[in-house]
Amino acid sequence: LDLRSEDLQTLEELGAGNGGTVSRVMHLPTKSIMARKVIHIDAQPAVRKQILRELQIMHDCNHPNIVSFYGAFLHESEISYCMECMDVGALDGICAKNGAFPMDVIGLITVSVLKGLSYLYTNHKIVHRDLKPSNILINSAGMVKICDFGVSGQLVNSIANTFVGTSNYMSPERIRGWNYGVQSDVWSLGITLMELALGRFPLDAECKSLTILELLQHIVNEPLPTLPRRDFPEDFCNFVDICLTKSVDQRPSPDNLAQHAYYRRAEREKVDMEHWVSHLVK
Ligand code: ADP
Ligand code: MG
Repeated sequence: LDLRSEDLQTLEELGAGNGGTVSRVMHLPTKSIMARKVIHIDAQPAVRKQILRELQIMHDCNHPNIVSFYGAFLHESEISYCMECMDVGALDGICAKNGAFPMDVIGLITVSVLKGLSYLYTNHKIVHRDLKPSNILINSAGMVKICDFGVSGQLVNSIANTFVGTSNYMSPERIRGWNYGVQSDVWSLGITLMELALGRFPLDAECKSLTILELLQHIVNEPLPTLPRRDFPEDFCNFVDICLTKSVDQRPSPDNLAQHAYYRRAEREKVDMEHWVSHLVK
């Protein structure tokens, strides 16, 4: 499929963030609905072409928990890529309108995200680098999929050079500028799960409205909150705690987490996602 800007009709804006804007579009020749992300990057044409080449790797990333990729192209010095449109949307929006998630749904999200991360790492040596609620998407069939992973080193660099590259979900080693590995994604998963369980971002409760720099210092230097044991099952609390191990050498990998009692329990559980999805406030 050779995607061109002229063939895409914009239907609705879905959101903006991390240096990009995402819209729901129709590909007119095939009448298919897609999500189009447009990224504005101040870079030399050669760098943009390299990013475009690197993005093509996404064609090879095929997994039920990875958002499908349809193609990427340049248009008026902006980079676009088109992907599967996930009609229920991202976890940040769902959480903002519906509050804390039910525990069985959190279990399915945990298993789905870890399967996606493990696939990317095992088969393509890709670490996600930007795991957070807005990059975890749900559709009305009840599937949970991840998107916006770091396939393009050049794109990651170009965004990192701007301030929007900073995120509340970054691990201590990432904040310190040390090596980034698959364990850094596990940290981001831990913060995300805590947020879904509590219905709010977990790190600015006691010390409300930190500046981003204060927040990053806090993550590196201060002990992290743990979930209240009386409100949540012990195996889940322990799972989140070990995701939030400060030392990267001691933090589990996605494959280690797949052996955890909480993961195994969640994997066996039957979750009626279609029912939950159909009752969400949109
Ligand atoms: P960020 O992830 O940093 O918030 P993005 O530009 O990647 O910013 O995405 C903006 C918003 O667009 C997301 O919060 C999400 O709601 C929506 N979005 C992104 N990709 C898709 C998709 N494939 N399907 C449906 N909605 C999407
Ligand atoms: Mg995103």
